[in-house]
Amino acid sequence: MSAGLWRRRRSRAIELLSSAPHADEMLEFYVGLVELQEAVADEVSRAGEGFAVHGAEGSVMQLEQLPADAIEPLFADFLLGVEPIGTVVIAGAARALLDCDAAERAQTLRTFWLQRSPADFLPRAFTEGLACFMAGRDAAAPADGHVQAKGGQSEDGPPTDGERGASALQMRCPVCGSPPQASVLRDDPGALGRRLLVCSLCATDWAFPRLTCAHCGSVDADLLHLHEVESVPHVRIEECAACTRYIKAVDLRKLGNAEPIVDDLATPELDLWADHRGLVKIHPNLLGL
Ligand SMILES: [Zn+2]
Ligand SMILES: [Zn+2]
Repeated sequence: MSAGLWRRRRSRAIELLSSAPHADEMLEFYVGLVELQEAVADEVSRAGEGFAVHGAEGSVMQLEQLPADAIEPLFADFLLGVEPIGTVVIAGAARALLDCDAAERAQTLRTFWLQRSPADFLPRAFTEGLACFMAGRDAAAPADGHVQAKGGQSEDGPPTDGERGASALQMRCPVCGSPPQASVLRDDPGALGRRLLVCSLCATDWAFPRLTCAHCGSVDADLLHLHEVESVPHVRIEECAACTRYIKAVDLRKLGNAEPIVDDLATPELDLWADHRGLVKIHPNLLGL
């Protein structure tokens, strides 16, 4: 299988290594981590049916129904890969899980699949590889570098089956039900300056109206604020004063080769700034910011 998503993330992280020195250590770790996530996706694609892992086909991905015991050996391999490259804390957590028995590791996966706690770094990072494969996101990228959501849904179409609640706004990923990690602005044919949200787990993107809070749905222009800094003009903070949440927006019109998930990780200074303002991110990224 081609691995467009992982290759893009890895090369973007390597590119940022020279331009974001304050995030160097984190980005170096991330480059190694992406290789391990790609290996998870490759293993699952090879084993495929044996793990009963398949695409979402229009309905919300039921991670909690995956066979954790069958998938656990891949998780153990992933932990073995993380231990030598992680920080002291991450390496220690990986070692602690490796010292458990297989049933406990499988239970760690089940717990994450059920609760999806963003701070559960190891099962989250592992499941990201799995979920991106299941969502078909790690296939080769089309010419514009972004893959459309699977399941036949139009990005401008009516709410899908995957939508939760009565709201017409899709606050969660239509494929896996996770919250968005970042917002993206890009020019599509016939839709200039289109806004999309990018899933924090499976990398699916879906259309979302501009000037609308991605957490509470507020459209009150007096409460929605944009914050930009000169050092990273393609990434800005979208703040909602109604719910005090924020999300970063990556403007692909300003920097076409930006990768929303990686550029979010590489701009911790924006998260610190938001934190000082008392804002809470809609969903913390993989590294907890
Ligand atoms: Zn998703
Ligand atoms: Zn809000």
